[in-house]
Amino acid sequence: MENESTNEKVSRRGFLELGSAALAAAAGGLAVSGAIAQENPSAKTQSDRSATEPAPANGPLNQQNADSEWPPATDSKSLVRNFKYPFSFANKRAYEGGWSREVTVRELPVSKDLAGVNMRLTAGGVRELHWHTADEWAIVLYGSARITAIDREGKSFVADTKKNDLWYFPSGIPHSIQGLDPDGTEFMLVFDDGNFSESETLLLSDAMAHLPPEVLSKNFGVAEATLRNLPKKELFIFQTAVPGSLEADQKAAAGALGTSPESFAFRTMDMPPTKRTKGGEVRIVDSSIFKASTNVAMAMVTVHPGGLRELHWHPNADEWQYYITGKARMTVVATGNLGRTMDFQTGDVGYVQKTLLHYIENTGDTDLIFLEMFKSSFYQDLSLSQWLTHTPPELVMAHLNIDKATLDAIPKDELVVVPG
Ligand code: MN
Ligand code: MN
Repeated sequence: MENESTNEKVSRRGFLELGSAALAAAAGGLAVSGAIAQENPSAKTQSDRSATEPAPANGPLNQQNADSEWPPATDSKSLVRNFKYPFSFANKRAYEGGWSREVTVRELPVSKDLAGVNMRLTAGGVRELHWHTADEWAIVLYGSARITAIDREGKSFVADTKKNDLWYFPSGIPHSIQGLDPDGTEFMLVFDDGNFSESETLLLSDAMAHLPPEVLSKNFGVAEATLRNLPKKELFIFQTAVPGSLEADQKAAAGALGTSPESFAFRTMDMPPTKRTKGGEVRIVDSSIFKASTNVAMAMVTVHPGGLRELHWHPNADEWQYYITGKARMTVVATGNLGRTMDFQTGDVGYVQKTLLHYIENTGDTDLIFLEMFKSSFYQDLSLSQWLTHTPPELVMAHLNIDKATLDAIPKDELVVVPG
């Protein structure tokens, strides 16, 4: 992959550098194509003179999307619905204290089941006290954050989270997030509703601004005058001081009720990988080990250079992906004789509808780390290799026109990431 895209880049540059005089001198398109093929014998243009793009093009974006520029011959001419949206395309809502941006069904129409919000909070920066109608799952991508909530009994939960830790706030559970020293935090939120929007949450500030002051006075049992400085508009994200010790906050929030027996946080790296092979590893976290996470399941996958997240599908749920680092390509094989390959890099969202066959290949020279997210209490997948090796051999050989030795060489167990 690396090499191919590099060659293509060289090939396109070579074509442009021929200049108009050279083009005029060349005896039509055939000669021009021939020149390209000669310059770069390994380029795809060698076998097909139509694989040229002579008008001005967006080179860097084409390079990042080499499998859309020149799809593999196995892709269908009719397209599988777009399944990629880069967070780089999402507008940031910036505030003193941090920012947020989102990829929802409005940006990526296929992503009906899940939506993602990427957020940054400075040290002391607060995502204000709020709740929402969807469940919120999160992973810390950078730095550390203090999170607060109360459980269904009204008991408090306060915890500090660091890189790769998760949290989960069910719908209706009020919560906050605050960046800690030395440089705050950045994290990815995943909501169990593609239609979710960060602009449609229930904020403490908004709620106060929409209630008659005399009602607030009566509700809290305090004089109306003491509430005259309540914010008149939303805070959403705001800057304040970095909080003090965790223990002090926990004690103060617990009061006489005591702390919540539930944990809304999960330490991903405290568990060993669910599966580790030569090709990489996976950590699967669903409600069987993270009790609070009742409607979102995660697989965090690492694929080493040259490795492949093996061909598989998910019988129970759509897959929402976030590419944390590295480079990848994925082909999705859909019903109706369709297949489409797209390329992914850091910051991209991918999406695979329930039951559709797919793989994810590391196309870079560093580790690829990405998230597979599901709107489900449990993680489930089926491996193509495992299926073929647990079906009567004669039947499989008759389908694929392969011999017994080849079939025997296919892995019998699900490896998740190959090679085993
Ligand atoms: Mn929230
Ligand atoms: Mn998958």
